[in-house]
Amino acid sequence: HPVLALRGIRKRYQIGTPVETEVLHGIDLELQPHEFVALTGPSGSGKSTLLNVIGLLERATEGRLHIDGHDTAALTEAQLTALRGRTIGFVFQYHHLLPAFTALENVLLPVLAAHGSLTADDEARARALLQRVGLGEALAKRPGELSGGMQQRVAIARALILQPRLILADEPTGNLDTASADAVFALLRAFNRDHGSACLIVTHDPRLAARCDRVVELVDGRIVADRRVDAAE
Ligand code: ADP
Ligand code: ADP
Repeated sequence: HPVLALRGIRKRYQIGTPVETEVLHGIDLELQPHEFVALTGPSGSGKSTLLNVIGLLERATEGRLHIDGHDTAALTEAQLTALRGRTIGFVFQYHHLLPAFTALENVLLPVLAAHGSLTADDEARARALLQRVGLGEALAKRPGELSGGMQQRVAIARALILQPRLILADEPTGNLDTASADAVFALLRAFNRDHGSACLIVTHDPRLAARCDRVVELVDGRIVADRRVDAAE
């Protein structure tokens, strides 16, 4: 089954009483395991809202959302939180690392949140993952001691530690220089290849979009294009 299936998703915000504004106008979208998909579109087109709905951070006003085969409408808030923790890894433009904790501790936080405790094995996996993202020497450093690109790689390790089926990345390379952006992108791509996790990545960078399997374009809350990237491109 698809990792992600949306049918007729609408999102309205209350901007006054009784004034509402609709920012997603009936989104249909499916992602298969293994797919690596770019979500593009102008500023204000609804990309972040769509990612927040898919990531179970906000509820859609209308429509159906299935994540990893679960009909999310049937789930309680507690069940949504559990499904989110088990299934989805988030990477944001501003990584939201906790400044008082080391890189290693930041990566272990999702494990603690999901399981309530940590084992030696969890720590070994976190160390291996940080090594994998090139931060083997920085395990004990706090975010403030790391460059922007390194911080974003810690955030990626944190997103991947529970081996999510679905990775949601909102402009993960938005505030990075080209070399750091390429390194961050390559890590997500490699994880997608090795683990088969589907990835939906918001990006304004046509260079990166061209390296995805598929590009979905949002304009004014509607999908106006959904095309496969030609491998020869
Ligand atoms: P993008 O990520 O493509 O820039 P957003 O999803 O952030 O687009 O925003 C889409 C539209 O929804 C914008 O017009 C924005 O102003 C509006 N919007 C986003 N969040 C809210 C909110 N909480 N209340 C009202 N309007 C919102
Ligand atoms: P192992 O054989 O212990 O999985 P790896 O070096 O392949 O050794 O992986 C170490 C950790 O990094 C594991 O937790 C694994 O899930 C994760 N991992 C594996 N492949 C990637 C990748 N391409 N990008 C990021 N992390 C990965």
